[in-house]
This record gives sequence, structure tokens and C-alpha cells, in this order.
Amino acid sequence: MPRPIHALIDLAAVRHNYRVVRARVPNAKMWAVVKANGYGHGVGDIARALADEADGFALLCLEDALNLRSQGVRQPMLLLEGFFDADQLPAISEQGITVVLHRMDQVRVLADCGLPLAVYLKINTGMNRLGIEPAECAEALGILRAAPQVQSITLMTHFADADGLGVAEPLACFRETTGAFGLPECLANSASLLRFPETHGAWVRPGVVLYGASPMPAIATAEALGLKPVMTLASELIAVRDLKQGDAVGYCGTFTAERPMRMGVVACGYADGYPRHAGTGTPVLVGGVRTRLLGRVSMDMLAVDVTDVPGACVGAPVVLWGRGLPADEVAAVAGTISYELLTGLARRVPRRVIEVGQDG
Ligand SMILES: *Cc1c(COP(=O)(O)O)cnc(C)c1O
Repeated sequence: MPRPIHALIDLAAVRHNYRVVRARVPNAKMWAVVKANGYGHGVGDIARALADEADGFALLCLEDALNLRSQGVRQPMLLLEGFFDADQLPAISEQGITVVLHRMDQVRVLADCGLPLAVYLKINTGMNRLGIEPAECAEALGILRAAPQVQSITLMTHFADADGLGVAEPLACFRETTGAFGLPECLANSASLLRFPETHGAWVRPGVVLYGASPMPAIATAEALGLKPVMTLASELIAVRDLKQGDAVGYCGTFTAERPMRMGVVACGYADGYPRHAGTGTPVLVGGVRTRLLGRVSMDMLAVDVTDVPGACVGAPVVLWGRGLPADEVAAVAGTISYELLTGLARRVPRRVIEVGQDG
């Protein structure tokens, strides 16, 4: 028997979540964002689950886009960080992939390359990460519109705080910069499309919502948004022992039994992608019962309190996050966000994919 850890990937849940977003965005097309290996879920499986529904797929690496093409994915694709070297442009053009331009030198290289291409021009509206400055927008559009092989131009920005203070200032900046050009827009990530319908434009870019986590857990839980978790990180107890009052648990003994207790050892550690910063009290499900982590997470194991979990024995099923235990909740306790937990799933954790129509 293999080590009992696995990540269950529920493709019916991805489709459910896609439809939840679809209902909130009736008039825009949707790029399903599948960067970072489909937020850790497996880019090929997610693309297959959404093959009939997604208007397009947005990702970072040309290699991933070409792999999807070779697997028969015909939808539009968008390279969110653009091209990294001009030698990528022939393949991008040949495969009909849309490319983001976020620097003026990329605008010039693309206009001079002579290859037919659809482009997104990214404007910096205050995130100060990628994007040309608003003052450069007219010049960039002049160059692109003068290049006959440029097939289409969409204007894009990315909001720095759509899940917090909002988008009013950057949206005003964007509209002021681009309003006169009459071009299609693509502005919204998950938080923006849920909170600010005025950012829907021609295309939206949902990522984390498709995987069933909330982009803004402080405002709305995934459940309140009607989302279902796609990944369930599951394992089992591989040891159970009784502790006397005063016994310490794990490295450095950061947890000491306050009274006689029973504890279980779970085959899951930080080398599986479980956050080492999760401390005593982090929620864990054992046999469907909610209990708490004890002491330090080690590389391959963590300890849980099973004092009040009847029947907790070796082989008892454990859920670290997913069905019954939102990744958002575990992330909050560990001082991070669900995005990091999902994308941080380690390669050594086998993925079990439930196809659409199976299970439920
Ligand atoms: C990752 C990413 C998204 C998706 O963000 P979510 O918060 O997961 O919806 C959208 N747009 C860009 C440019 C991104 O890099």
C-alpha cells in the first residue's frame, strides 16, 4: 500500500464553480485562469473539465499553452505575462495564442515582427507591477494600429486591491486613459468580477473562484458564494498514542499535554505542501470530526488531537483541507491565503481525479 496521502480533484466541482461565475457575469466572456498548473490542481485536467464551457484559458507559460493545444484544446489562450523572448512569437502566432504586452519595448518588437497576432495591451493603474504607464497608452496604440498584422487589441489592467479597498481609483484612471479609444476591455480577477460589475468589460479573468476558494474570505466565504472545493487534501492516521499530562509533542515540544490526551499522527507534512506556519489549533478533520493540530508541523507528519474523536485509530481518514474544511480557513490560521496552499501542493502527493459525472 502506498503512503496514504492524496489530493482528490473533483472536476464536477470545477464545472459547478465555472457556472456560478458565469451566472454572475452574464455579458462578458471568461478566461479560465489555469496558471501555476491550474492553481495546483493539474492544468490538463482542469482544461479538460472546462473544455465545453470556458471561453478561453489564461496562463503564463507558452509550453503549457502548447501542451494544451497538443491535447486538443482549441479555445483562445492568453499569455498573462506576455512573451519572454521574441523567439517565442512564431509559435504564439502559429497557435493563435493572444499575448499580453506590458512594456513599450514589447509593443515595438511585436509591431515589427510581421506575424499575425492578437494582443492585450496592459496599462499600469497603480499596482506598479506590470503595464505601460497611462501616458504611454496613446503612443503604444499608435504603433499597434499602424502594424497591419495585429489582428485585435484589447485593453487590460489588473487591480491591486479588488478584494480590499476596491477599484474606484484605478478604474477611473483606466477609463480616463482609454475611454477615447473604443477598444474592448479585460479588467477583472475573481474579487473584482464578484464585487464590481462595472469591471466586467468584454472579458473577465476568474482564477481562484473556479477552484472553489474565496478571493476575499473576510467579505464572503466560498460557501456563501455558492462555490464547491475542487481539491481535497486527504490522508490517514498512521499512529495513535496516549499522552500523560506534561508530555510534549513533536520538534521542540512546542505543545505540552494539559491533561491525559490521545493524539494521532497524520501522514502529511510541509514537504507535502501543508503550511509549516500552521500551529496548534489549526482545524483538521479526523473521521469527519473537526479537531485541532498539535505542535509543530514536521516534514512528513503532523500531530492531531483525537481525545474527543471516537474510534480514531490507525487508518482513520483525515482531511487537511477541501470537503468539509475550507482551504480559506486553514490558510487564515496559517497566516496565508488559499492560493498559496492550493498552488503549493507538492509533486510527491498523488492526485486522484474524479471525472465529471462520477461521485457527486
Ligand atoms: C492570477 C491572475 C488572475 C486571477 O486572479 P484570481 O484572484 O485568482 O481570480 C487574473 N488576472 C491576472 C493578470 C492574474 O495574474
